[in-house]
Amino acid sequence: MSKQVQKQLVVFDFDWSLADQDTDRWIFEVLAPDLRRKMKNLKDEVQWTDLVAQTLRELHARGSPRGDIEGALRVMPFHPAMVRAIKDLKAATAPETTLFILSNSNAIFISTILEDKKITDLFTEVVTNPAEWDSSGLLKLRRRIDPAGPQHDCKVGCSPNMCKGDELEAFLKRQQTEYDRIIYVGDGSNDFCPILRLRKQDMVLCRAYRGLEKRISKEGERDGLKCQVKYWAGAWEVEETFKSLPSTVDTV
Ligand SMILES: [Mg+2]
Ligand SMILES: [Zn+2]
Repeated sequence: MSKQVQKQLVVFDFDWSLADQDTDRWIFEVLAPDLRRKMKNLKDEVQWTDLVAQTLRELHARGSPRGDIEGALRVMPFHPAMVRAIKDLKAATAPETTLFILSNSNAIFISTILEDKKITDLFTEVVTNPAEWDSSGLLKLRRRIDPAGPQHDCKVGCSPNMCKGDELEAFLKRQQTEYDRIIYVGDGSNDFCPILRLRKQDMVLCRAYRGLEKRISKEGERDGLKCQVKYWAGAWEVEETFKSLPSTVDTV
């Protein structure tokens, strides 16, 4: 059955998807490459969000001020075509588009960048790890799922801090809206869980040559991936896809 698309949801992973770099790694590459090296050495031993939190404490102990981190975030690569793409999508009268960010980065990194690009208001919600500046200028970061409390039971391989599939479903419940089409823009292996929950009329815009592409090719068919898959390398191609989306979807 063919259906007119009246409402659509676009879900963005942040690092290497909406943004053209990885926030957690970038700030240390800019401000303290030796700490970046240390993270690389420890990443198989320490849970990633905990490792970023610990490295932020080390950076702070060296006297690096809050403004340095904010400055590094503002100069992080962010493709102008992506800014245009989402502004145009939101401005179009039909279909009506809701934008949602689902990320393993953190609230401060993301809000700092969105404010700098003046696109904060375009997004309905940002689900990510909580973070806040304390009065001494330390960025305090925590896992979205507290390690001391109940854990998610995802079997697809999401990191302990968050199951992106569960978070996507929880967002859809909160919205109480029937979306005719969901488009998921992602690149990482942890974007595989949420796209398994998408339907036939939905679409993943998968960044090429990264973890998600590998998982789709190895596990997609076995795990019953139903949505359409489109690959992209540069944000200009996401913009191009948004501009040429069909006005109807086949739901059966
Ligand atoms: Mg990513
Ligand atoms: Zn999961």
